[in-house]
Amino acid sequence: MRPFTHTMPFPEALSLALQATIPISRTEHVALGAADGRVVSHDVVSPLDVPPFDRSAMDGYAVQSADLRSASAAAPVALTCVARIFTGEVSIGELRSGECIQIATGAPMPNGADAVVMVEETSTAGAGVPEPAGGLAEAARVFFSVAAKAGQNIGRRAADIAVGTSVVTRGQVLTPSRIGALAATGHRTVEVFAKPTVAIVSTGNEVVQPGLPLPPGHIYDINRFTLESVARRHGGAPLALASPGDSLDELMRVLDAAMAHDLIVFSGGSSVGDRDLVRDVIAERGEMLFHGIAVKPGKPTAFAVMTSGVVSPSNGQRELPRDTVETPVASSEAKRLPRSLFIGMPGNPTSCLSNAYILMVPVLRKLAGLPPWEPHTVTVPLARRIISASDRHQFYTVRLVNGQAEPAFKGSGDITSMANADGYMEIPATTESIGAGTLVTVTLF
Ligand code: AMP
Ligand code: MG
Repeated sequence: MRPFTHTMPFPEALSLALQATIPISRTEHVALGAADGRVVSHDVVSPLDVPPFDRSAMDGYAVQSADLRSASAAAPVALTCVARIFTGEVSIGELRSGECIQIATGAPMPNGADAVVMVEETSTAGAGVPEPAGGLAEAARVFFSVAAKAGQNIGRRAADIAVGTSVVTRGQVLTPSRIGALAATGHRTVEVFAKPTVAIVSTGNEVVQPGLPLPPGHIYDINRFTLESVARRHGGAPLALASPGDSLDELMRVLDAAMAHDLIVFSGGSSVGDRDLVRDVIAERGEMLFHGIAVKPGKPTAFAVMTSGVVSPSNGQRELPRDTVETPVASSEAKRLPRSLFIGMPGNPTSCLSNAYILMVPVLRKLAGLPPWEPHTVTVPLARRIISASDRHQFYTVRLVNGQAEPAFKGSGDITSMANADGYMEIPATTESIGAGTLVTVTLF
């Protein structure tokens, strides 16, 4: 056993981790249909005006407003309807005084017209809009009961986006509406920052993949799936590598394969037991920024920057220990990144997942170029008084019951501490207790 002699306060650990996090600069082109949530890597300027032409904003009639100066309900003005323009069509003629052209919303304005009157402010001699048998060979009379103003109901060319103006800018996160603006300007793809790849490694002799038989003394791998899910939600591209057992050799081989990824997250083996070897593999391959943080749960958490190391030649032929994982371990030929970040999480599923929220998420989002997470929170009274570890930043799960926060924490080894909770509160190390009825802010899962 090698007990922790020092734990780092959580705010200090987080700030060290963030200082060591350099947003990734790799970019890729993605189809608009797959671009939601991605981070724009280059400013995009519109190559055209949107709309590209003056268009009607109403179903109605294109007119010369001067013709309708005197129109009123009591004394409607009649104009002769000489044509119809539907969307996708362009009128060739020129509208003259005394005439109107029936026009659909979105259709280009005909030359000579300076206003559109909505159909509701007109009437025709017969019923409905004029649709004479032979097209518009027989001219139809349309009566206008309201005066028109020049420019009314016209969507001007470039009113939405003018050629040369910026559509999206570097660093913006794509949303449905920004993707819409890219589509409006004719883009099929957009250049975005690549998602940080996250190698997820559940270490431990006892860990078995769900779906396989569970030998005595073994447990199913929880952390791989909780970490993958959190990583995916926060802009990462997770890849689970085959679980190494608690031996230096196995850990080292998987670590070397994992160094093809931007972020490496190990779970298990980060504590102080004789088989907890994460600190030893880090010592071989990188620089440990901290090991042991003053959080509860989740003290045995490590963070390192991996910059060195030699890929072992045996790496490509390594046997997968015990269980098979459908995701392959990267081969020795895999491109090694010059710099990877490493987080060593405790094996206890709730400790692992809580540190994923408070430590991995900020790091991952910064790597991805995403803004800090703005989680959904609710502020509600605490149902019962709680005592908090006086010297540790506490991650405390709660259920929302009748508008109050009920403590939901069972134990750090119990996934139901979180699965049966609605969210969590963070209690700073300096707070020792919180009284019943105190308003607390709960971050919803
Ligand atoms: P460790 O951090 O390796 O000391 O593990 C602490 C506890 O977490 C032990 O009870 C482990 O069996 C358990 N554990 C470790 N890894 C996992 C995992 N991937 N899924 C579920 N439990 C785990
Ligand atoms: Mg272990």
